[in-house]
Amino acid sequence: MDKLDNVLIVAGTHGNELSGIYINKLINEGLYITDRPTFKSTSLIANQQAVNNHCRYCDTDLNRQFSFPADNQQPDTHEARLARHFIEKYADKSSQLIIDLHNTTSNMGATLILLSENPFYRKMGAYVKQRMPAANILFESHKPWNELPYLCTCGEYGVMIEVGAQSHGSLQYGTLELMKEMLTAVLDFVEKHNLNQLGKLSSYTAYYYTQEIKYPLDSSGMRQAIIHPTVCGRDFEAVKPGEPLLATFFGYDVHWQGEQDVYPHFINESAYSKANIAMALAEKQLVSVNKP
Ligand SMILES: [Zn+2]
Repeated sequence: MDKLDNVLIVAGTHGNELSGIYINKLINEGLYITDRPTFKSTSLIANQQAVNNHCRYCDTDLNRQFSFPADNQQPDTHEARLARHFIEKYADKSSQLIIDLHNTTSNMGATLILLSENPFYRKMGAYVKQRMPAANILFESHKPWNELPYLCTCGEYGVMIEVGAQSHGSLQYGTLELMKEMLTAVLDFVEKHNLNQLGKLSSYTAYYYTQEIKYPLDSSGMRQAIIHPTVCGRDFEAVKPGEPLLATFFGYDVHWQGEQDVYPHFINESAYSKANIAMALAEKQLVSVNKP
C-alpha cells in the first residue's frame, strides 16, 4: 500500500461524545499536535448542530448514513444532508485515512475498531497493541467495506477510536488522555508506515465481532431482562458456554449457548438503548501480521 498524504481527524460525529470534541479544540489551539513530517492532518467537527444541542444527533444517527444502498432512497434528514456533503468533500481522496473519535458508556477502555482485515489494518492493530498493551483491538470486518454505514468508511481508509466508560455529555480526564494516547499511536503508525520504518511487529490477540444480543421485550416494548451482574461493566472479559448473559425478571437467566468463549462489549451502551441492544459479542483470535 502506498504512502498516506492526509489524515482527517473527525470528532462530533455524535454530538455528545466530548473527548474527541475537546481533542479537536486542543488541536485548533495548538495544544495537541497531530501533524507529522510525511502527512498533513486536518481536524473537524462532523455534526456541529448536534454538538451545539448537546445531543447524539438531530434527526438520525450520522454514523449510520454512509453505506450505499442500491436504491439510494435516503430520507432527507439533517444527518443525511451532512453525510452527502461529507462524501462530496472527502470520499474521493485515495491517500487519506479518516480517524473518527467516539466515546462509549461501556467499560471498553481504549478500543481501536478496524473494519477490514487487510495487512495495513492488521499492522496498525499490532503497532497500537505494542504501544498500548491494555488497549483492545476490535475487528468489525464481517461486511464488505462499501456496505458499512460508518462515516470513516466513506473514503478508502478509515478507523474508529472508541473510548469509555464515559457518560455522554460528560468529559473525564482519564478518558481524554486514553483517547489522545491511542490517536497519537495511530498517527505515529501512519508516519512509520509512510517511512517504511515499521520494523518487526508481533502477533497479537484481537476481538472479532460476531453478533448483537437484544433484550427480550414484553408486549408493551418494556424489557424482560437486564444485563447479568456477572457481565455488567466487564467488557472484553470471557463468558464461557453455559454462563449467563442476561438476568430475567422472572428469576431465570439467559445463558450463552455457543460452543466457545465469547467476549461481550458495548455492554449497556446507553446510545443503543432505543434499539434494545444489550451488548455485542466477539470472539478472540490471534492476529498474525505476516498473514498474506
Ligand atoms: Zn459515537
